[in-house]
Amino acid sequence: MPSERASFADRRTRAAAKLREQDFGALLVSPSADLQYLAGYHLFASERLTCLVLDREGRATMVCPAFEAPRAAVAAPDVERRTWEETDDPFAIVASLVHSSGPVAVADQMSASFLLPLQEALPHREFRVASAITRGLRMRKDAAEVEALRAVSESADRAYARILERSFAGRTEREIGADLADLLRAEGHDEVAFTIVGSGANGASPHHEAGDRRIADGDTIVLDFGGAMRGYRSDITRTVHVGGTIGREEQKVHDVVRRSQEAGYAAARTDASAESVDAAARRVIDEAGYGEFFIHRTGHGIGLDGHEHPYLVRGNRERLEPGMAFSIEPGVYLPGRFGVRIEDIAVIDRDGSARPLNRASHAFATVA
Ligand code: ZN
Ligand code: ZN
Ligand code: ZN
Repeated sequence: MPSERASFADRRTRAAAKLREQDFGALLVSPSADLQYLAGYHLFASERLTCLVLDREGRATMVCPAFEAPRAAVAAPDVERRTWEETDDPFAIVASLVHSSGPVAVADQMSASFLLPLQEALPHREFRVASAITRGLRMRKDAAEVEALRAVSESADRAYARILERSFAGRTEREIGADLADLLRAEGHDEVAFTIVGSGANGASPHHEAGDRRIADGDTIVLDFGGAMRGYRSDITRTVHVGGTIGREEQKVHDVVRRSQEAGYAAARTDASAESVDAAARRVIDEAGYGEFFIHRTGHGIGLDGHEHPYLVRGNRERLEPGMAFSIEPGVYLPGRFGVRIEDIAVIDRDGSARPLNRASHAFATVA
């Protein structure tokens, strides 16, 4: 789409302005969410160097293996290419495109196998992480990005609605995880990134991956899953119960977490600090007496990366602004017993309030 291409060019213009403002020499972007953001080029990191070089004047050059040039041309037709053959030194080519003095910013996820030769090719240069330049841009989503996040979040909601119709008792966490992955794809995801199925005591470990435990009647299960659609990421958590009778404490903890999440939503608005959202969600859990069992931050930004700025954590005084998108995901984890977490993606709207992008019910659903 021409409008999409124009937005990539506009992002590079704004990144170049930041390079000048902060006196950087250039921005070097290997395959990563930053490359998708600045050029619309999505590819997996390999041992061959692909690197977008953006200079202070806003000139962009894609250094890439010659045999991948046609692919780069399709993905980023408006970016000039400098190709290298198998026997060339791609790092020397990158270095030759850096003509301004000042530190160079490199993609945060650039591997050591690229960074070390680049440091050799650009001796006496200071190297910094690219997020110094890109985080301020990427945190503030434009309308098309918010729309992409809404679409992928709703796709995850539909996968959740459909998993509730499956039978859980007697099957393993891994089987439920595989079902969730299938449902995400069936509902439009083109990538599945993770499926956490924490049943019974496993739910007390927030990042427990689906394992071989067989699910039993009476289990409380944390389901946390997500992936991507056209680059933008989903991430949703719901806690469900197997069988008809929910235990008193399970119900109580679920109610507390639900109220905590609502408090997080109410606190998330334009000009509120990221840490104040964490504090608001945490207060509800503290007051219910479960404070020591809420063992992680309240949320993380989301976009082209599953976890990105801003982080909703004590100590982060960053102010929220329209276009910022992040998870609100308080939880309570009772070791040896069970865990409860509820997670939605929210975006700060023009009117200043936080709008949920996930619409799936927060009720403590019962599954068979
Ligand atoms: Zn997590
Ligand atoms: Zn999650
Ligand atoms: Zn999350």
